[in-house]
Amino acid sequence: STDSLGVAPILTKLQKDCATPLPVLRHVADAMADDMRAGLAVDGGSDLKMILSYVDTLPTGNEKGLFYALDLGGTNFRVLRVQLGGKEERVVATEFEQVSIPQELMFATSEELFDFIASALGKFAQKEGGNFELQQGRTREIGFTFSFPVKQTSIRTGILIKWTKGFAVSGTAGKDVVACLNEAMERRGMDMQVSALVNDTVGTLAGARYWDDDAMVAVILGTGTNACYVERVDAIPKLAKRMSKSPITIVNTEWGAFSNGLPLTEFDREMDAESINPGEQIFEKTISGMYLGEIVRRVLVKMAKVGGLFGSSYVPEKLVTPFVLRTPDICAMQQDTSRDLEAVESVLCDVAGVKSDLSARKTVVDICDTIAKRGGRLAGAGIVGILQKMEEDSKGLIFGKRTVVAMDGGLYEHYPQYRGYLQEAVTELLGSEISKNVVIEHSKDGSGIGAALLAAANSKYE
Ligand code: ADP
Repeated sequence: STDSLGVAPILTKLQKDCATPLPVLRHVADAMADDMRAGLAVDGGSDLKMILSYVDTLPTGNEKGLFYALDLGGTNFRVLRVQLGGKEERVVATEFEQVSIPQELMFATSEELFDFIASALGKFAQKEGGNFELQQGRTREIGFTFSFPVKQTSIRTGILIKWTKGFAVSGTAGKDVVACLNEAMERRGMDMQVSALVNDTVGTLAGARYWDDDAMVAVILGTGTNACYVERVDAIPKLAKRMSKSPITIVNTEWGAFSNGLPLTEFDREMDAESINPGEQIFEKTISGMYLGEIVRRVLVKMAKVGGLFGSSYVPEKLVTPFVLRTPDICAMQQDTSRDLEAVESVLCDVAGVKSDLSARKTVVDICDTIAKRGGRLAGAGIVGILQKMEEDSKGLIFGKRTVVAMDGGLYEHYPQYRGYLQEAVTELLGSEISKNVVIEHSKDGSGIGAALLAAANSKYE
């Protein structure tokens, strides 16, 4: 049975180290706003890159015609077409397909990878029919969501900085990924062209704005995290010359790199030190789906070793492997309302290969809650930081009217407690009056259609 005397002090210390009372949240929100300003002042001025997206026209709802989207962000890519019918008819029809990228192409040449993508896109386009119709004399336009680091220089150009997420494609770094795809499509004689190169958060904002004129911010909480928002061009000192007549532009914050004033524990520090990018992406490591389960696992290992969680200093062998406990597992354990915590028992048995008594299971749920609570509340403080920055530069334009924050990503979508903590922190920070005007809502598949909408909004025919 559990040596509860050993477990309690570790849990208490964890809860203390993870605490996010209002002053901590306020500090994080203020620091986020300050870091945003510093990043807008000069390149490299802050942890936040504050990347200009070159998207300065968001969808209005009036878009008409057939548009395509291509989403490349991992080992799968998605292709989609949408027929837009304008203000009244809106989305007349949409179809999509998911294609997995063969392992060997992740290590191939740039031409081989883009030829494969172009070919899949071409096959998909050939199945067009029914409700889909291209306007006479036009080529098919594509919104291309590319979730790897690129240095964008226009809405249709982006130089690849490096491949990540296991890709090691040769001959693409330093090249324009839009040109790579356009050339591959030309080689196949395809009648398609990229009209907009889009970051996934920007796609989410575009998708949300299409349905709701008050959408101003988009946040992704999935494996990783990021946020973008509508900024006024004259609030961006580092934007030397104005290329466009639009008074606004979308800024991609890359907020995962934020690190100022976060309540961190020994478990966070050890996880960071052993990660492939120590010292980087600290906000992401505290709030996003890739890491929450791993932080809980590290706490469990210590509690097993020092606190006798699973019987005196017994550390289950399986539990020692990094990342065996995933965020969906801790989410599942938190949904367990049974008296004996049977679901908790079954996760611990599957993942850690361990038998647990009821008091150990309760402790495990408390740990999950502590880590999810800190993550959700800090994400909420980050959102308030963005809204605060927007409000300070435009007195009354944010808090004085309805403002929508569009949310997407598996963590936000599937983890109700996390969502609740996020909302709670936003309400605490803004107060009940102002928070009535701030609507935080899930934008389902915003980014998929969003990229096609940005191709429409940036069509070369308009
Ligand atoms: P990605 O961010 O990888 O592009 P998603 O937005 O679908 O894709 O997010 C997937 C992530 O969401 C997973 O890595 C996981 O961390 C988190 N997630 C998925 N399902 C759940 C769940 N049931 N509970 C909590 N988190 C989940």
